[in-house]
Amino acid sequence: MDELQYQMDLLKAMNQKLSLKDRMYQMIFDATDSAYLYYSFDKKEVTTMGKWKEFFDFDIKEVKEMEQLFEVVEEQYALPLREALFIEKKGEVDSRIECQLKNKKSWFQFCCKVEYQNQQPFEKMITIRNVTKEKFQNEELLYMAYYDNLTGLYNRNNFVKLLGEYVRKAGENNGIVSVLIIDIDDFRKINDGLGIVAGDEVVQQFGGFLKELCNNNIIACHLSSDIFCMAIYEPTGSCSVESVYKSIQKRLREPFFLLDGRAINITVSVGVAEYPEAATTALELINCAEIVMYKGKEKGKNAIQYFDTPILNEFLNSVELENKLKQAVFDNNFILHFQPQFDTDNKRLRGMEALIRWRDDDGHMIRPDVFIPIAEKNGAIIPIGNWVVEQSIKNFVKWRKQYGIPFVMSINISSVQCGRDDFVDFVMDTIRKYNVNPDEIELEITESILIEDFASVIDKLRQLRDFGVRISLDDFGTGFSSLSYLKKLPINTLKIDKSFIDTVLTDSPTRIITESIIDMVSALGFESVAEGVENEQQYNYLNEIGCDVIQGYLLGKPMTAEQIEDMLQNMS
Ligand code: C2E
Ligand code: MG
Ligand code: MG
Repeated sequence: MDELQYQMDLLKAMNQKLSLKDRMYQMIFDATDSAYLYYSFDKKEVTTMGKWKEFFDFDIKEVKEMEQLFEVVEEQYALPLREALFIEKKGEVDSRIECQLKNKKSWFQFCCKVEYQNQQPFEKMITIRNVTKEKFQNEELLYMAYYDNLTGLYNRNNFVKLLGEYVRKAGENNGIVSVLIIDIDDFRKINDGLGIVAGDEVVQQFGGFLKELCNNNIIACHLSSDIFCMAIYEPTGSCSVESVYKSIQKRLREPFFLLDGRAINITVSVGVAEYPEAATTALELINCAEIVMYKGKEKGKNAIQYFDTPILNEFLNSVELENKLKQAVFDNNFILHFQPQFDTDNKRLRGMEALIRWRDDDGHMIRPDVFIPIAEKNGAIIPIGNWVVEQSIKNFVKWRKQYGIPFVMSINISSVQCGRDDFVDFVMDTIRKYNVNPDEIELEITESILIEDFASVIDKLRQLRDFGVRISLDDFGTGFSSLSYLKKLPINTLKIDKSFIDTVLTDSPTRIITESIIDMVSALGFESVAEGVENEQQYNYLNEIGCDVIQGYLLGKPMTAEQIEDMLQNMS
């Protein structure tokens, strides 16, 4: 009896120990993020553990019930999963497979570990991990590596690679590849006026439209901000550049509707370069197309510009010029010429205009209308413009003292200079530094100055006017010449552009306009200056119609400082 009791106690103790281990394993399985499926090959029994119930809404107790697994995974994974779970390759202990469920939401990784006894598979443990998050993150990374987030088009890197493929293929088959750069006109106005979210919406919708034009032979990418690039392999028929451009034009006749219901119409400028004519590599082709697009834009927006060699040469020259210009600023290779202005009625010296000249390393004189626009683009206009202001005031002070003849020094001011916050202070400080009467200094501005930020420009000009500086509106008649803004401008003088003077005697509409301008200027209390007066007839006529001041080759060409000194010497 004692022996029996002992056996029973032993069994109880062993059972307790076993259920303790069971509980411990259960806890371990529950604590992991995986589900487990165990089966023994001889008993054909299957046990599920861990997160199984969270992952699947069915349980498996026998091998044949594992069929349910193959039914919930996407079709293409059913067979590989079956192979991984059931087919034991000799000596293989570990196999792994990732499957997506039919609901498209979840991804699971199945990892099988087989134990062998006497070289026969004995038992198997399948660990199942939910890898949905990693999968989607990887997909997102993959997407970001190849596509543009905003438009769904290819991104730049991927596009360049694919374009490279087109070029290689065309090289092998004597083929053609056309590259189109498409730039939304006045995109800044959309961004500034309606906000960048609206700008993004337009880019997104237009990008989506370009995607629709893509096929086996056409690819497109979002290059940057409002610039897109397309490449066409063998551009013929419905895939020709003309046909693609026509489709774009047709779409743009209709507006894009923003989420808030606003309708926006856009136009685009397109530049086209072709392999092998324009360039032989992907990047060069994009570059050439971009150059011609910008050149085309200068002539007018909403148009297509095809590559031609003179355009490229012109661009290369401007790049060379830009580099030389940077050096010239460094070396201060500029000089000032001065062109006298005379009162019309008595031909007395009224003033002189400082005109900059650049002598490049080869001794060539480069005209300001060639290099000033480049200097405005690359920022060199600031040191150059400041130098002109200081240098002309310095000369003025010297001549005023030396010859005692009163006159006004006119200085051309670029819109970029005027846009600077420190512009007003700089001018005032320089005037104070040389102790000149502000009334003897005149700043010549053009209408382009007003396009940027009308209110702030007017404010700056007003401060300078209040300080005593004279303001002159240059090249009147060449810009938008709206009469309504004239009365808002704090100006003293208006310069009628040379193009009017050129034809004033031969073209009667020009004559009528010129006379009206002079009448209006006088009525507004401004002074009128005629630019580019080259002959006596023009002079006599301008005198007759009451133009106040004459500037031009007839009475004085732009001169060096020495020549001006001779002129002043003769006058005194
Ligand atoms: P602008 O201010 O209208 O200057 C008048 C231009 O007409 C000058 O050309 C002058 O040489 C030219 N001109 C004057 N009278 C006659 C004439 O009777 N016949 C002909 N054919 N031309 C005449 P320039 O010196 O080549 O200057 C061209 C433009 O470059 C200037 O036009 C001005 O806008 C700009 N510029 C010149 N110097 C400066 C400067 O220091 N700063 C800035 N921002 N611009 C400047
Ligand atoms: Mg001028
Ligand atoms: Mg002018």
